[in-house]
Amino acid sequence: MRLGFSAEEEAFRAECAAWLEGQMAGEFADIRGITNLVDKAERRREWEQQLARHGWSCIGWPKAWGGRDATLTEQVIFAEEYARAGAPNRINHIGVELAGPTILAFGTEEQKQRFLPGIAAGTSIWCQGYSEPGAGSDLAAVRTKARLDDGEWIVDGQKIWTSLAQFSDWIFVVARSEPGTKGPKGLTFLMMELDQPGIEIRPIRQINGEAEFNETFFTEARCPADSLIGAPGEGWKIAMGLLAFERGVSTLAQQMQFRNELDAIIAAARANGAAADPLIRQRIAEAEIGLRLMRYGALRMLSGGEGGATGGAALTYKIQWSTWRRSLGELAMDVLGQAGELAAGEDYVFPMLPNLFLYARADTIYGGTNQIQRNIIAERGLGLPREPRGDI
Ligand SMILES: Cc1cc2nc3c(=O)[nH]c(=O)nc-3n(C[C@H](O)[C@H](O)[C@H](O)COP(=O)(O)OP(=O)(O)OC[C@H]3O[C@@H](n4cnc5c(N)ncnc54)[C@H](O)[C@@H]3O)c2cc1C
Repeated sequence: MRLGFSAEEEAFRAECAAWLEGQMAGEFADIRGITNLVDKAERRREWEQQLARHGWSCIGWPKAWGGRDATLTEQVIFAEEYARAGAPNRINHIGVELAGPTILAFGTEEQKQRFLPGIAAGTSIWCQGYSEPGAGSDLAAVRTKARLDDGEWIVDGQKIWTSLAQFSDWIFVVARSEPGTKGPKGLTFLMMELDQPGIEIRPIRQINGEAEFNETFFTEARCPADSLIGAPGEGWKIAMGLLAFERGVSTLAQQMQFRNELDAIIAAARANGAAADPLIRQRIAEAEIGLRLMRYGALRMLSGGEGGATGGAALTYKIQWSTWRRSLGELAMDVLGQAGELAAGEDYVFPMLPNLFLYARADTIYGGTNQIQRNIIAERGLGLPREPRGDI
């Protein structure tokens, strides 16, 4: 296992760090440190375009499509420096990390030409239309329907928890296109423009006061017949390919953001005297150990050990970081004491640490709940018998 980075990788790190620091100290200083998904959306859209102008918007993509052919390690280095510089949460995360790689892997040449340049340039922002009121973990239970009619797909149904739909231009939707089918059969993966009369987006207010996600309603919404990825009825394969991107390597670099959060907790504990409490000290030490374990685990995956970033160890990563961060949020609240329950102003805008506590409750849910991750580890990692799955 390689515990460090090569001279070339360190040089690349210095290049990323210098550029990002320059931006965050200069033209984009007003959005430095934004870690939530909703603040200053317009400026964050401009930031996407600035990243693109300087070749940093999708560095893992092939050069031919606006990327840099960056290795996985380079992508992690960039993401680490991104967090270290306090650069804002990416408003086109779903476009760059999920839609783009899916189109690259499964799309036709024509689709690549149609969709990839806008994602790379930061001019088309994407969201993900998978979950429905009755289809979350059991994604194959989707009821949203799609039918082909005179050269167009007509879509009817409802999606829920659609993060960032209010800021997005495009949505990818998993819909049932073959009436009478059940489970993963008969589903189609469609790419749809959001700005059309048949789509209505209603915000859902969250516990932290923000409305990052939405209900998305489709009433005879339309897209051209060739807006599907893969074949009609074979959307499940595409949907699962995309989920592997979501649960996989795109999260390896989060430790730098986690480092910032743990450092903020340590600073708060020192400032208010909580650091003198031996139990708090012990929990901080445990959090530090957990963070280092994740760091070394990520390095092990990057060095290719145990099947690398796609192997058995990688399957454990989502459950590991989400559980660790949920405990970190609880630690933050215990360090802050009563002060953590106060929010400034009428809008109840929570400061970073209480917000971390509230938001981290969702980490063990989105992208696959902890229970579902355990199923994945058991079945795919350990080769245990499959869980009975009803009529699938
Ligand atoms: C912050 C956030 C952002 C999100 N953004 C998006 C988005 O942009 N687009 C989108 O499509 N979705 C999004 N989601 C939805 C997310 O993918 C689902 O919430 C998730 O898949 C869980 O589904 P569910 O909420 O329907 O819970 P359910 O599937 O109803 O699960 C409820 C509970 O039952 C457990 N459970 C269910 N099945 C099993 C099983 N077989 N074995 C053991 N336990 C089981 C679950 O683990 C969970 O604890 C988001 C969710 C959150 C919290």
